Order: sequence, then C-alpha cells, then structure tokens
Amino acid sequence: MLTRLNQKNGDELSILGFGCMRLPTKGGNIDEPRAIAMVRDSIEKGINYFDTAYFYHSGKSESFLGKALSNGYREQVKIATKLPPFMVYKLEHAKKIFATQLEKLQTDYIDYYLLHMLTDKPMFDRMVSLGVLEWLEQLKAEGKIKNLGFSFHGGKTDFELIIKAYPWDFCQIQYNYLDENNQATKSGLQLAASMGIPVIVMEPLRGGRLVNHLPAKVTQAFNSYDKERSSVEWALRWVWNHPEVHVVLSGMSTEDQIADNVRIAEDAYPNSLTKEELDIFEKVKTTMGELTKVSCTACGYCMPCPAGVNIPGCFSVYNDKYLLGDKSVRWKYMQTLGALSEKPANASQCVFCGKCESHCPQNIQIRKELKNVSRELEGFFYRPIVNLGRKILRIKNRK
Ligand code: SF4
Ligand code: SF4
Repeated sequence: MLTRLNQKNGDELSILGFGCMRLPTKGGNIDEPRAIAMVRDSIEKGINYFDTAYFYHSGKSESFLGKALSNGYREQVKIATKLPPFMVYKLEHAKKIFATQLEKLQTDYIDYYLLHMLTDKPMFDRMVSLGVLEWLEQLKAEGKIKNLGFSFHGGKTDFELIIKAYPWDFCQIQYNYLDENNQATKSGLQLAASMGIPVIVMEPLRGGRLVNHLPAKVTQAFNSYDKERSSVEWALRWVWNHPEVHVVLSGMSTEDQIADNVRIAEDAYPNSLTKEELDIFEKVKTTMGELTKVSCTACGYCMPCPAGVNIPGCFSVYNDKYLLGDKSVRWKYMQTLGALSEKPANASQCVFCGKCESHCPQNIQIRKELKNVSRELEGFFYRPIVNLGRKILRIKNRK
C-alpha cells in the first residue's frame, strides 16, 4: 500500500481510505461479523485511514467502527468523523454529538474531524457565530481532535470562500474524472494544495455510477486501450494521478472490492498515467460532453447570480440524470443545491433577470434551461418537502 505524506503533521496516510458508509448489510443492518473481518483485513493490507460520520448507516457506522477497531486496532489507524452542521442550532448540540461520537467510537480522540457537507459560506459562518469553531479549537488544544477540516459539496466559489476563511488542517472534496469541473473543481483542489492543505477525496466512482452506468462509447474507449482494465481501475488511477490528493476514500462493501482496490493502490503513483492513458481520458470526456444535456463547462463566468442560483451546480446534477441514469438525482439536487442551508441555490430561485446569459461563452439559454431543471428535478413535492425539512431543522429563510 502506497502512502502519501500529510506535510502538515507528518502522518503517512494510506492512499486508499476505507469509507464506512457502504458496509455489507444483512437484514437491513450492518453485517457486523463480516464487516469487522473486512476492516481488520484492510488494516493488515495497509489501509490506515477510516472515514465515518454521525449519520452513516442510520447512525450505526460509528459504533460499528468502534467495535471493529477494538482489541488493539484503534492505535494502528486514523479515524475521520464528522459534525453535521444541519443538526447544530446551539453549541450544546455540537457538544452532545461529539461526546456521543467518542463513546460510539470507543476512543478519547478523533484524528481527523470535519464539519460535514458544507455547501456554502453562510453554513460555515453560522458555525462560527454559534461558537462551534472556537470550541473545536479548544478540543484541539486538549488533544481530543488532532486535525480540523471540512467536507464540501457546494460550488467552486463557496469552496474558495470557505477554504480561505479558516486555517484548516485538511479538507475533503468530491473528485473524479467527471467532476473535474464540478463542485470544488480541479482549481479548488489546486488552491488547497497551494495553501498546503491536504485533500481527502470522496466519491472517486461517483457512488458506483462510473462503474455501472457508463455510456457504451465510454466503455469502448477504455477497452480500446486495455480490455482487462476495469472502469474502477480507470477511475481510481485518474484520481491518484493528482499529486495534490492525499487519500482516496472508497466505500467498500465486499472482500473482493477491498482486494481489488488495494491491488490498484500498490502502484498508483502521482503523475504515473502515460500520455496514451491521458489521451483516453480526453476521449472519454469528449464523449461524455457529447452526451451531456446542457453544455455547461462550469467556468463560472455567469456567477454570482444575484438571486443566489448555483447555475453550474444545477446543470451538473441535471446532466447526471441523462448521462449516468442517476436515480438518486433528486436527493443529490436537494443535498448539493442547498435545500437545507441558509441560502438555497436551486433553479427555481431564478428571477429571470437575464444578467447571466451575456457572460456565458457557451451561449447557453440559462433561464430556459433552469426552467427545465426546476420542472424535472423539483416537481410538485419539492417545496413542501424542503419547507418541512427546514421547519424541522429550524433553518431560517434567506434574508
Ligand atoms: S437569470 Fe436567473 S440565474 Fe441568471 S442571473 Fe438572473 S436570477 Fe440568476
Ligand atoms: S457561464 Fe455558461 S458554461 Fe460557464 S458556468 Fe455559467 S452556464 Fe456554465
């Protein structure tokens, strides 16, 4: 197993991290004996970074990991877990969640602690105003948290604002060959690296969709180079090829997936893809572009929108619906377009001022396309569901 150095603290992190959100299940629950054996086997194989969160597996992932790492395994690995800001409306909420996490994980400290799923700067600002950041710093000083970071699912502009707003120890972004220009984007990855902030990558396979739902032309392009190489291997090698990336998280559900991912991680050095392999990715990206519904390149020239719409973010999720046959697209739309954040950025926020369109180098009829996005991804139940969620979570409407 290759490792990459966290230059901030000297940790040698395995380039493959174990994401504990897709553990094997039996009868609706985590199949504990099997999953524990998998975790311990992966440690034997060199994985030393385990990523979980407060609500993965309906809140059971952390207690599972605590059990799996008992009997001497805890000390061999780094645990990453996360504080869900959308469940924190008073500092007391955060304190209670953190205490529960230590208990569930059977540990006195968290190696890598993240604000979970930030989508915009106001979410971060709210944590600051509640005193959460100050309290987390105190936990760091006490040694209960070793590194403080955030995971991110919003747009490039907010990523830049958030990463510059605080001296983070690390960050976690979604990144894969389809998301080079989406969410934090490649420029966000490079910005983090230029600031000396280690980057953990999630969703290298887009939740499996870069494995199971690839258009035939894409598979043909990969096969033209090497019939034996799987789409998983192509996708993982692409991410590891980036020297800015430290750990790639894989939500492994079977023993075979662990064995296969570990094999690939044996020689996935930075900048190791050949020109021929990189050319295949260019072909793949062109094909993906041709099959894309809205030809948005996520350049961001149309931003900011005065009504707060994340224009490239809306088009990205919309394109997934057609390109990858993504069934979870409505959930992803809610999640990434700020349905539960202070400033929603979904398509129906558009007030049709037209300011954006003259800036678009692709000449996209943004207003017309946003109408299509809102019709197809919001539909009749979107507002009632979002309003109910906001009410339950006591999220104020934007000012
Ligand atoms: S037309 Fe809509 S998306 Fe474009 S700038 Fe105006 S409000 Fe924003
Ligand atoms: S300017 Fe056009 S291509 Fe660029 S992000 Fe906006 S809609 Fe997409």
